[in-house]
Amino acid sequence: RAKASGGKHYAFYAADLATRAEQHLRIENGLQRGLLRGEFVLHYQPQVDAASGRIVGVEALLRWQPEGEAMVSPADFVPLAEETGLIVPIGDWVLEAALRQQARFAKLTGGAPPRMSVNMSARQFRERDVAANVERLLRETGCEPSWLTLEITESVLMENPAAAAEAMARLAAMGIHLAVDDFGTGYSSLANLKRFPIHCLKIDRSFVSDIAGNDSIDDGDAAIVKAVIALAQSMKLEVIAEGVESAAQVDFLGAHGCHRMQGFYFSRPLTAELVEMLLKEQAQPTT
Ligand code: C2E
Ligand code: MG
Ligand code: MG
Ligand code: MG
Repeated sequence: RAKASGGKHYAFYAADLATRAEQHLRIENGLQRGLLRGEFVLHYQPQVDAASGRIVGVEALLRWQPEGEAMVSPADFVPLAEETGLIVPIGDWVLEAALRQQARFAKLTGGAPPRMSVNMSARQFRERDVAANVERLLRETGCEPSWLTLEITESVLMENPAAAAEAMARLAAMGIHLAVDDFGTGYSSLANLKRFPIHCLKIDRSFVSDIAGNDSIDDGDAAIVKAVIALAQSMKLEVIAEGVESAAQVDFLGAHGCHRMQGFYFSRPLTAELVEMLLKEQAQPTT
């Protein structure tokens, strides 16, 4: 009996693997086709100075709209794109599209657009000369380096740190800012913060979501958020909280010295057209 059920279990497992493999292949082909057909689009989520309410940055977030299907969230395809290496050509597309849009935001704001944050995968640092690529794209789109922030995860700092350090030093020397995304969820050591030319820490949404606003405030997460803000301040780094959803979270973060925030409380990721409208409004002198 045990043997029979064991065999059955194995059969299930194998079937599962086959469907998973098929599904992966289907998505991989879909992504490749999507690149050729122009099925990717960027949405932009405002980052605000909570004290003034002004939009000080926007984060470009990738969306995939396969023909005749529902919009696909990056959480559902970026990990696979990273595994297969497709994130490299997709990332090239993202950088170029974000900088083209930034040139339009710059025009609207008289040459002072909010900083554009672009998510970079570790593979882009491994397989591309990131600094040369970015430099060329800035030139082609007419963007200033100081209009761009690259968001990296702790994995970039961990894998191949020597090469990453060199690329980051070149980017920083150009005036591009580097932000560590999802800070606190990875395994990088604090020593890395000193070793790399980092400008900004992004406090991960998972810590922010439990600091306040729920009936049960998570003391552990509140302590982590306070510690990250204090760390950033003592190292003279900017700090921004992501995933801010409630007034109570805004109050908590503000009280502890984190004034830059991003989250549904302020705005969901928006189309470029909607951000353009907000920037035009923001440019109106308030009397
Ligand atoms: P991330 O870079 O940490 O981006 C923040 C994610 O949190 C976004 O999800 C955003 O829509 C979501 N978010 C923002 N505010 C709130 C909030 O108040 N509440 C909740 N529940 N969520 C909020 P999204 O757009 O689905 O992106 C997921 C992840 O996919 C990103 O996490 C990033 O790691 C990755 N990603 C997105 N675009 C790109 C890209 O162009 N290149 C690469 N390599 N990765 C990307
Ligand atoms: Mg990000
Ligand atoms: Mg993040
Ligand atoms: Mg995150």
